[in-house]
Amino acid sequence: MRKNIVAGNWKMNTTVPEGVELAKAVVAKAGEVPASVKLIVATPATHLVPVAEVVKGTPVGLSAENCADKEKGAYTGEISAAMVASTGAQYTILGHSERRQYYGETDAKLVDKTRLALDNGLGVILCVGESLEEREAGKHFEVVEAQTVNVLAHFTAEDMKNIIIAYEPVWAIGTGKTATAEQAEEIHAFIRKTLAGKFGAQVADDTTILYGGSCKPSNAKELFAKPDIDGGLIGGAALKADDFIAIAMSF
Ligand code: PEP
Repeated sequence: MRKNIVAGNWKMNTTVPEGVELAKAVVAKAGEVPASVKLIVATPATHLVPVAEVVKGTPVGLSAENCADKEKGAYTGEISAAMVASTGAQYTILGHSERRQYYGETDAKLVDKTRLALDNGLGVILCVGESLEEREAGKHFEVVEAQTVNVLAHFTAEDMKNIIIAYEPVWAIGTGKTATAEQAEEIHAFIRKTLAGKFGAQVADDTTILYGGSCKPSNAKELFAKPDIDGGLIGGAALKADDFIAIAMSF
């Protein structure tokens, strides 16, 4: 059975002390969220160690926002999957559109990153999603299918137990413009169908697919009510513990 997950992507926000306070506020309210909903906070790499201390022994999971496509060595400034795992984090986001857009993240690199993350025991939150131009050109299915298949073709049904997919239309991220629940559901169902084609119906049914893009307390309920939307990857609204928790209570 797939899980309902609400994950907060803090991006490059908060200093370490601010992040620790935010994590404490999330932990303090986590008990209000139904036990069937898994909460995850994805923090900047600098925050992972102190936030791991805050979430230890609580139901709140911890994720990095990225990891390197190389195992170790002379790659100044990079943070390896093993390093992420050694902080106590259990997940990493990979392939966020901001990384694809600003840091040259390719599907080929994502294959290496995903492999290293899984090998180091991390769950992967793999982001896919089309740009505004691609949607307006009617290419959204094609783009999302390619992003999904280009990476997942290299992985097995067993690997899929540790891979979560986040559908994040780029035009909805940080813009205040949410995909309608129908637009999101249409792509989620399509991703599930794509997974069924590659891995079979059981894997497709068991894979958690999150929606991301200006998800907030006012629209989460409608989105999460859709059969193929299993939760959210939350950016801006995850920086306020009350909003983040209110989103998680929208199931
Ligand atoms: C994100 O970047 O993952 C995201 C969904 O951002 P926002 O909620 O701010 O649109």
